[in-house]
Amino acid sequence: MSIVYQFTNACEDKNLLGNKGANLVVMNKLRLPVPPEFVISIDAYKEYKRSGNLPLEEIKQALEALEQRTGKRLGQGLAVSVRSSAPASMPGMMDTMLDVKEAADVLTSIKRVFDSWDNPRAVEYRRLNRIPVDLGTAAIIQAMVFGDLDEKSGTGVMFTRNPSTGERGLFGEYLSKAKGEDLVSGRRTPQPISSFQSEMPDLYAQLKEVAIILENHFHDMQDVEFTIESDRLYILQTRSGKRSGQAAVKIAVDMAKEGLISREEAILRVSADDVRAFLHRRIESPEKYKPIARGLAAAHGATTAAVVFDPLEAVEAKRRNERVILVRPETNPDDIQGISAAVGVLTSRGGLTSHAAIVTRAMGKPCICGTEEVKIDLEAKQFETRGQTVKKGDVITIDGSTGSIYLGALPLVESEGTSELAELLTWADGFKRLTVKANADTVEAIALAKKFGAEGIGLCRTERQFNAPERLAAIRAFILAETETQKEKALALLRELQKEDFVAIFRELQGMPIIIRLLDLPLHEFLPSEAETSDPDLKKRIAELCETNPMLGHRGVRLAVTSPEIYQMQIDAIAEARAEVEANVSIMVPQVITLQELMWVKGMIKDKGLKIGVMMETVRACMRAGWLAKEADFFSFGTNDLTQAVYSFSREDAEKKFLTTYLEAGILKDNPFLVLDIKGVGRLMETAISWARKEKASLEVGVCGEQAGEPRSIMFLHSAGVDSVSCSPFRIPIAKLAAAQVGIMEKRLAAEEKRLAALVTGG
Ligand code: ADP
Ligand code: MG
Ligand code: MG
Repeated sequence: MSIVYQFTNACEDKNLLGNKGANLVVMNKLRLPVPPEFVISIDAYKEYKRSGNLPLEEIKQALEALEQRTGKRLGQGLAVSVRSSAPASMPGMMDTMLDVKEAADVLTSIKRVFDSWDNPRAVEYRRLNRIPVDLGTAAIIQAMVFGDLDEKSGTGVMFTRNPSTGERGLFGEYLSKAKGEDLVSGRRTPQPISSFQSEMPDLYAQLKEVAIILENHFHDMQDVEFTIESDRLYILQTRSGKRSGQAAVKIAVDMAKEGLISREEAILRVSADDVRAFLHRRIESPEKYKPIARGLAAAHGATTAAVVFDPLEAVEAKRRNERVILVRPETNPDDIQGISAAVGVLTSRGGLTSHAAIVTRAMGKPCICGTEEVKIDLEAKQFETRGQTVKKGDVITIDGSTGSIYLGALPLVESEGTSELAELLTWADGFKRLTVKANADTVEAIALAKKFGAEGIGLCRTERQFNAPERLAAIRAFILAETETQKEKALALLRELQKEDFVAIFRELQGMPIIIRLLDLPLHEFLPSEAETSDPDLKKRIAELCETNPMLGHRGVRLAVTSPEIYQMQIDAIAEARAEVEANVSIMVPQVITLQELMWVKGMIKDKGLKIGVMMETVRACMRAGWLAKEADFFSFGTNDLTQAVYSFSREDAEKKFLTTYLEAGILKDNPFLVLDIKGVGRLMETAISWARKEKASLEVGVCGEQAGEPRSIMFLHSAGVDSVSCSPFRIPIAKLAAAQVGIMEKRLAAEEKRLAALVTGG
């Protein structure tokens, strides 16, 4: 078994050669100009870790072969680099030895590269990116080429498409008469690769050719390191390029259209983070404000926060749940934790391919680089620009899409998406089984939901409609009514107001289905606090309605049992509105624990022909799912309250007091209010669904808690047989994507099983 691979070995195995090594072999095969090299495999690394020995004889032979190929001897015209090459991308995390001229040094360095697998920043990077610690690295020995040799030399980084927007065409930077590290460190400001087009047309044509060959082979956008030595182009490295979310979407859609990948593949390539980051926020009216400085627009999106000058301070701020922008002259791999803790990054040095730019783009957070007019004083923890001083803790707004920096917190707005995203989501519709609806309770929210492609409104709450002043007065009048007449008058007014709301909502829906949830809040939520009023009658009523545990108290359907007039008023208002505007309306009853409650509300509907369903958010309802299914038209799991019930702790207190500690100590893996707890809440749901479907196979089951828009939860809900998820309008693109991904994966799995089954029966 060989453990040293020369380019003549046809091996392309990443697990043996690492990414960089395997891709160098591929480029050799593609006949691209790669400086001669050989690779010492990961097996050799593992042996070295075990015994401390290197395969000396094989290395010696490979070095001799390298000398023969280059026609030069080590130390006499030939120098080599010793580079790391791991199966997972860990850019800049391990050591590289350049310009090595003696065989003995080659060995020490090989050892240094192997040892650098365990250096602290590599360890930290693996932890953050969940890269297994036992993966190991290969080492590449490669003939040096010199980008600083003469005027016709230089070094550059090229992306085969724009990593920030996804636009087709070469994107990158070049430094003439320079070595690679001069570019990466951001010490000198490079020139854009586009300037080659006129200055060095031959070279530009060559680079374009290389880009096409690489994309055709890898079927992905590539990030290529190259060096030019006396007018000759050498490719030193290629890998799939890190990209912003916006670029990820555009590249996937474009490549599917170019026939490089399938539509399914395009959908699988885009991650939820890509879509989330890509729905960038931007400054509402930037023209109204004067920037205090301008730098390079390195990673899209706008954000506003207090500045800190130390990555550790960013980490501490994050622990305190504070948002900060990290300001540094430049960043390096040791700063990873600080960058990941910050909401944005601002640097005074470095270009669009500098460390800060690449890392933030991949993380989807705004970044401005190379802001040379910003003079940073790390000791004093402040920066100066255009005569202004910005100190630690001062709030600024940065716009990574334009490169502008502003003082203070400017109003931001969410972005609207692009045509490529819209196209990708249309494709996604064809692969998903889950219906994706929105939680929305105002006309504006419904309009937004439609814009994001909602296929219905899965949860329309009716509490907020009482919040406007004249409505609050009306509901208070009802709560405080002393006589029947007063009560009826108050109810008539409420019914009129609710009807108006529903008419407007139904108009906006234009036939899209909606589930309206009847009132869920305890009545005292509509009254002021005792301290806020001097009216003795009001004080008395507040005291009467006061509860020890309001969230476990007199709310939801319980209210309808003690005061049926409220639900009756809402049902009448819905029916009257529907008589005016055609609408596909269902009503949903919150906090149900027993079939009798459902029957109670059903009695109010009588012959109004409205569908009625249960909001499944108590444990008892889940345990009685079979019975409830007999009389319900649908179920919708309210996973927020259901999670609270299963865990027996409230979200507010948990998040404020102990959940962070639980997560940090690893006692809980995820916040169950953000990621559905599959093992507990999920199992309860599965049980309830199976009992319910035994009773009524056609029962429609939805989920409308916050977790319904979270990708991992969606994957589970798909496999649990849920029909629809309903989430905030902003999450719809992510939910649709995740729903399509799980659909595609299920299809592929089924095909694979069929293939295997055929193999078994055939064989
Ligand atoms: P990393 O994985 O950290 O990117 P590399 O192995 O790519 O490390 O090496 C870092 C840099 O060293 C390269 O970007 C390039 O500038 C320089 N380098 C490596 N090998 C050579 C070579 N054979 N000739 C010239 N420069 C090289
Ligand atoms: Mg590199
Ligand atoms: Mg609830």
